Amino acid sequence: DSAILWFRQDLRLADHPALMAVAERPILPVYILEDGPWAPGGAARWWLHHSLAALGRDLAERGAPLVLLRGDPRRLLPDLAAAVGATEIHAGRRTEPAGRRCDAETHAALQAAGTRLVLHRTALLHEPHQVRTGSGTPYGVYTPFSRNVFGLLEGLAPALPAPARLSTAPGAPAGLSLDELALLPRLPEPDWAAGFAAYWQPGEAGAAARLAAFLEHGLAGYADRRNDPGAAWGTSGLSPHLHLGEISPRQVWHAAQARGGKGLETFLKELLWREFSHHLLWHRPEMPEAPLRVEFAAFPWQPDAALLRAWQRGRTGYPIIDAGMRQLWQTGWMHNRVRMITASFLVKHLLQPWQQGEAWFWDTLVDADLAANSASWQWVAGCGADAAPYFRIFNPVLQGEKFDPTGAYVRRWCPELAPLPDRFIHKPHEAPEIVLRGAGLQLGRDYPAPVVELAAGRARALAAFAALKGD
Ligand code: FAD
Repeated sequence: DSAILWFRQDLRLADHPALMAVAERPILPVYILEDGPWAPGGAARWWLHHSLAALGRDLAERGAPLVLLRGDPRRLLPDLAAAVGATEIHAGRRTEPAGRRCDAETHAALQAAGTRLVLHRTALLHEPHQVRTGSGTPYGVYTPFSRNVFGLLEGLAPALPAPARLSTAPGAPAGLSLDELALLPRLPEPDWAAGFAAYWQPGEAGAAARLAAFLEHGLAGYADRRNDPGAAWGTSGLSPHLHLGEISPRQVWHAAQARGGKGLETFLKELLWREFSHHLLWHRPEMPEAPLRVEFAAFPWQPDAALLRAWQRGRTGYPIIDAGMRQLWQTGWMHNRVRMITASFLVKHLLQPWQQGEAWFWDTLVDADLAANSASWQWVAGCGADAAPYFRIFNPVLQGEKFDPTGAYVRRWCPELAPLPDRFIHKPHEAPEIVLRGAGLQLGRDYPAPVVELAAGRARALAAFAALKGD
């Protein structure tokens, strides 16, 4: 009796409870590209293309080629189950609202035909529907959440091995080719993501290699270097691999524990931020669109297409912002500290709605993750569950000087500023004319003049916040 293994955000063979549940039976492994709200953005589609290619190779090698489909699982899966005579479909549980709705409806559609949809925990360390506060409510604050989950994880089971051999269910349809899924832009559309390959190796092998390198070069220094955006191996760079489940958080958790040492606890806590954001999304499905603090729905944003564009393109005149936005554009990733600074600048100094920033990140991040992205944007904007207060406004010059004191990060992503002395690397607009000339820079020509004056931007943000509160 055969089964369908429906891959979603768990594109790996090792430590895959859903796969292990069916590995002894003839299986049909399938991936379905779904449309709908929050379908993968441009950078994520590049990653997905290469990740599916890697998964397809690994599955074919073990004897069960991956079938690619596009469309609505509610309609596709009943037919597929009938074609291969499958009585069960196994998959990983998901936290995204559209995915959950789809799963519930797929379950109902299959039941009519006598087929079961069985969901497993493949993407998270905790079960959002099971972990609760002492009074039985979902968590809204990170620290007690992480304390609880840390305790639960003391008994975390070891990671599962990858199955050595698989067999294909007879009657499997051919499906689409990877090119027919059309994840990559077609000519003459520009493919800005083509350069990502210099930074990333999507797929399970790439994820394992990155984890090994981080444990070797990064973990011991993690607590000290994780806020230095210019450091090599300051952070793991595992986020896109974790997002698509090319490696499981359980594998990362155990491997980091086995390595041990300084940096370990700080790193494990970051993994729990990922859990926390999924916990929030599970219990607050409105999070990607609507502020969790409802009073923020009336916030007096001042949408301005030119300001938004300057931010998106890294042309604000504030080097730490511009460096971050250009790192994002060129590599599909941005350092966490700089994500916080750029996000704060957009929603506070520029007074643009956080949803605009969230949408841009969604389209340009290779690790774009509905839970982490929306929880983080709400956190920065002050309207999230456990948010930084809105009136705490990062000054991008001081933040740059604090976290990139030598300017190494700015010089890398804004090379036109490289000749500036360290003293002015985060504030070219304050450099005397003679210094600018010495660096061969003319503001407004070689590098933008600031799009907003910091004190004025800050005052405007505070006034908007006061108006919201009715002060
Ligand atoms: P490391 O420091 O090595 O951390 C290890 C892992 O822990 C990460 O891979 C990630 O899975 C998880 N993690 C760390 N910090 C966070 C966090 N604050 N929230 C949730 N998980 C975390 N992360 C995403 O994965 N996808 C997003 O779309 C995303 N959008 C963000 C938007 C904004 C405005 C901000 C401020 C943060 C966002 N983050 C997002 C969180 C964080 O910036 C990234 O997870 C981190 O930079 C990834 O780099 P890393 O793998 O080297 O992290």
